[in-house]
Amino acid sequence: MPHATPLISTIVAALVLAFLLGAIANRLKLPPIVGYLLAGVLVGPNTPGFVADQSLALELSEIGVILLMFGVGLHFSLKDLLAVRTIALPGALGQIAGATVMGLGLALFLGWSLGAGLLFGLALSVASTVVLLKALQDRHILDSDRGRIAIGWLIVEDLAMVLALVLIPPLAGLLGGEVADVHDPVVAAIAGVVGGDIGIAGVLLVTAAKLGAFFAFMLIVGRRVIPWVLHQIAHTGSRELFRLAVLAIALGVAAGAAYVFGVSLALGAFFAGMILSESELSHRAAEETLPLRDAFAVLFFVAVGMLFDPMIIIRDPLPLLATVAIIVLGKSLLAYGIVTLFRLPRETAAIVAVSLAQIGEFSFILAALGVQLALLPAAAQDLILGGAIISILLNPLAFWLAERLLRRREHSPLIVTPIAGPSASLPGAPGAVANGGRFSGEGHTILIGYGRVGSAIATSLAASGEVIVVIEDSDTRAAAAVAAGLRVVPGNGAVTEALELAGLNSARQLFVAIPNVFEAGQAVEQARRANPAISIVARAHSDEEAEYLRGIGANHVVMGETEIGLGMVERMRRPKG
Ligand code: AMP
Repeated sequence: MPHATPLISTIVAALVLAFLLGAIANRLKLPPIVGYLLAGVLVGPNTPGFVADQSLALELSEIGVILLMFGVGLHFSLKDLLAVRTIALPGALGQIAGATVMGLGLALFLGWSLGAGLLFGLALSVASTVVLLKALQDRHILDSDRGRIAIGWLIVEDLAMVLALVLIPPLAGLLGGEVADVHDPVVAAIAGVVGGDIGIAGVLLVTAAKLGAFFAFMLIVGRRVIPWVLHQIAHTGSRELFRLAVLAIALGVAAGAAYVFGVSLALGAFFAGMILSESELSHRAAEETLPLRDAFAVLFFVAVGMLFDPMIIIRDPLPLLATVAIIVLGKSLLAYGIVTLFRLPRETAAIVAVSLAQIGEFSFILAALGVQLALLPAAAQDLILGGAIISILLNPLAFWLAERLLRRREHSPLIVTPIAGPSASLPGAPGAVANGGRFSGEGHTILIGYGRVGSAIATSLAASGEVIVVIEDSDTRAAAAVAAGLRVVPGNGAVTEALELAGLNSARQLFVAIPNVFEAGQAVEQARRANPAISIVARAHSDEEAEYLRGIGANHVVMGETEIGLGMVERMRRPKG
């Protein structure tokens, strides 16, 4: 590939290889992240062959971070953020302190200085935004309580990092490194006016004031201007302009936050999204950024892979093992302990703990800064990079283990049965929680998705006395189904376990009322395989989707848009009154 166009060759090599290896990983039933990371190692400088531009790849992946955080902000209101502060604030600070002490312990054991140890520990204490959000997204738990706590926790970590990054350079001398000037124009200007150094307290004050100014600016100006601009653009009717407006807002606010207010790109994007979440356009905005977001998030994993030097496994096996143990075990146990201390359910504690049991982009920035200030030995940077890639690789496994253990220990509390409600009088209701949570009735109906479509199906079937088990992955929608007196398996209908818990083998009919055709396809395929006699009706949005779903086992497929059209004509023809 010609090196005259490094940006193009880096993007192409990264995406093509990530796609190929991701697909192979998927085939081998491994998470695709494994493929992306391996793609990075292959195009990285530590393996022979083509070498992509490492700094470009890292910078491009920042766009992924911005779009991911923007997307999260779109699902988050200020109220949600304030609601989790009582746990997220002490939780994140406690975990940072605990992990820093553990890292310091290892560093002192390896003979490094106190300053090096503190920085090393701090680098091990902050989780990666991309890894965490992707894990929550893949499991459809971004919108749940657990998801919100984990995100609130991440935001506190992010804020702590903003402070750490401005404080470390002036503190470097004290910690045994080279004293460095703060590259902050406001600090420099104030120092110029007062004619000298403004000290650590001064730097801290300026940083806090800038953070405060950013929040105030977003809440007072941003809250009015951003939704107004989007509304105006939506009224032009141009899809292209709307998409552009969404992108411009996400990237523009993130960059403005970083360059003007010294806030991180991720936090800026999160705030831009959160402000939009109050407007009804937020869902459209979210959809517009999805494809770009996913592509750039993949670049993040490739960039991490590129930084990894596989030789570290041979060079420093024991320190690497200890580093990974701190990140994966030490941090999770700490988080688990803190969350259970707040009397939250064990499942919440476990999910929050494993979602934070990895490190990523912030740790790389801290490590690079530490080496630059002669605070950290180069070996520490290698350990941080090695620890990051291994902890990211282990993360899906940690989730799987946590989910397994919980299920075994708690005898699967997955089926939520209504305490009272209309279905209590329906046949089969008492058997709902038998068999460790699996629905044990026969001839029942499984309904995947309880949104606009699914709830209409449920109302109609319940009126004719059918026994229904709903599988729904949004906590709010699942709670609505429980409130309507239905049995609910909270979870993803495309996952075998959820289908089994809903009693797939003995069910008579299955309604697949979810919009995503790939997930719908997975549900249909598994249902047909496990229960050849079951009647399946699925939902589609185009002829191709309908054909695909019929091809893998659906008896009937209803095309939403066609039915709406027929319904509209019908309505018009019906005699008035
Ligand atoms: P609607 O488009 O309004 O009918 O909503 C679709 C519903 O399906 C929403 O409540 C989603 O939370 C839910 N849903 C989407 N995907 C899945 C899935 N894979 N498993 C279970 N529920 C889902």
